[in-house]
Amino acid sequence: MAKVFVITGPSGVGKGTLIQGLMTCLPELELSISATTREPRTGERDGVDYHFMSSSEFQRRLQAGEFVEHADYAGRRYGTLRSELDRRLRAGSPVVLEIEVQGARQIRRTMPEAVQVFIAPPSLEDLRLRLEHRGTDDAAEVQRRLAVAEDELAARSEFEHVVVNDSLERALELLTEIVQGSLAKCRAPTSHYTRGQQGKATQP
Ligand code: 5GP
Repeated sequence: MAKVFVITGPSGVGKGTLIQGLMTCLPELELSISATTREPRTGERDGVDYHFMSSSEFQRRLQAGEFVEHADYAGRRYGTLRSELDRRLRAGSPVVLEIEVQGARQIRRTMPEAVQVFIAPPSLEDLRLRLEHRGTDDAAEVQRRLAVAEDELAARSEFEHVVVNDSLERALELLTEIVQGSLAKCRAPTSHYTRGQQGKATQP
């Protein structure tokens, strides 16, 4: 089975930028496109950045068991559609999920073999500045996201891999090492011999 990589951490920490860099370094990776009930930001495209949907459609698909994980985040709903993940895994592609912490916990329960990486900011103040400078959210939304971030930061000790995004170059290097190392383990042959060869070797 192909690998699943969960990249989590608070909003504004740079998950998206790091994942873009990661996918340039390791082009075999595929990013799962999440579903959300939030409005598209300027320049975001349906089916590319997210599957944008109404609350009623999200709820209907949730009840139909179509999500592998989902979360309510800052007043909106987000989730990973089973179809998004399965299609890529069936094709043998390692898949990256960019999700918040509640979703990462659900994946840990249902797919304990998934590799989870928590991206941390150098400080909460640094995160506040990033969210403000990003300019994608108004002041009230930045406040909502910072309030959630305090709880999210407390969850970092739950994660086997933590990458502090103090320098983009260094953080990308560390993230790529983690993912590449895990992919290499996945591909490593268990034996140099096939069953037939081993059988032949023991023939008198
Ligand atoms: P944004 O509104 O900034 O695009 O995303 C808000 C938060 O939701 C980010 O932390 C992002 O990683 C997370 N997120 C995006 N897609 C999903 C998803 O499918 N599931 C979960 N649990 N979180 C998601």
